[in-house]
Amino acid sequence: MRVLAIGECMAELAPAAEPDDYHLGFAGDTFNTAWYLARLRPDMDVSFFTAVGTDPLSYQMREAFATSGIDSSYVLSVPDSTVGLYMISLENGERSFSYWRGQSAARQLATNPQLLARAMTEVDLIYFSGITLAILDVTSREILLDALRVARASGKVIAFDPNLRPRLWSGTSEMTATIMQGATVSDIALPSYEDEAEWFGDDDPIATVDRYASAGATTIVVKNGADAVHFRHGDMSGVMPVPPLNHVIDTTAAGDSFNAGILAGIAENAPLNDSITLACRLAGAVVQGKGALVPIDPTLFDAVS
Ligand code: ADP
Repeated sequence: MRVLAIGECMAELAPAAEPDDYHLGFAGDTFNTAWYLARLRPDMDVSFFTAVGTDPLSYQMREAFATSGIDSSYVLSVPDSTVGLYMISLENGERSFSYWRGQSAARQLATNPQLLARAMTEVDLIYFSGITLAILDVTSREILLDALRVARASGKVIAFDPNLRPRLWSGTSEMTATIMQGATVSDIALPSYEDEAEWFGDDDPIATVDRYASAGATTIVVKNGADAVHFRHGDMSGVMPVPPLNHVIDTTAAGDSFNAGILAGIAENAPLNDSITLACRLAGAVVQGKGALVPIDPTLFDAVS
């Protein structure tokens, strides 16, 4: 199984041990999922489709892809450009984020329709998110959605996390309308209930399942923090409890790692229940660590069931 994740990776400055010292890392929603997938299943071909600049920071990011076992054949270089950056500030244990991503090279990722089409023909499963759509201009969004539509019609499996981020959109109606366009080109939808309830007004997770099913997704898994996961897979639907945890340290990338578990299970043709079990175990390990990319021992997740 070959997987292609499409989106933005950013440079991350996280507080280090000494005050005023920062640690440079790389993270971003679809990249995080690709990272966990490559960790979880080192035998799987995981590629990341994005655009970076031509400066030293962009080269460091490319190196990070390589050392993470992520193929970067489809990483475009945009001359005279750089990657997005965010900095984490800690105040009384609370994290806040400052972003510099308005001009990031990743915004150009869908400017080459031929490369997008070629990348999609060479893989089996394609993963993108609402953040991928949000950072693109209207023309690039259309190019990406068209490419996904064509890929899906040719038998590729398309997976989508709506990842609603109102700050990245010009307005909430643009966000909700475009997210549902993303849903119409997708087989698998992986929304988070809290955000969906806030921006789509869903009364309960079943309403979220129904809305993505109406848009055409055939597999829907609704995350809901420590609360139960709701799912539908064809005609089958159900609810699975999330194993309780005593010490949740940092929920960054909970949803991204959960999605990696689901995609790993689907890539192995596992029953959806087993994929959800795997996703909960992986996300459970991630929220007990610090930061977006928590090192995991893949052998702990060998058996899907
Ligand atoms: P997102 O990061 O997209 O908001 P959620 O917060 O819904 O995603 O979390 C995704 C998954 O991470 C959950 O389905 C669950 O498996 C796990 N998870 C998150 N928070 C907790 C928690 N407090 N206790 C146990 N598991 C959790």
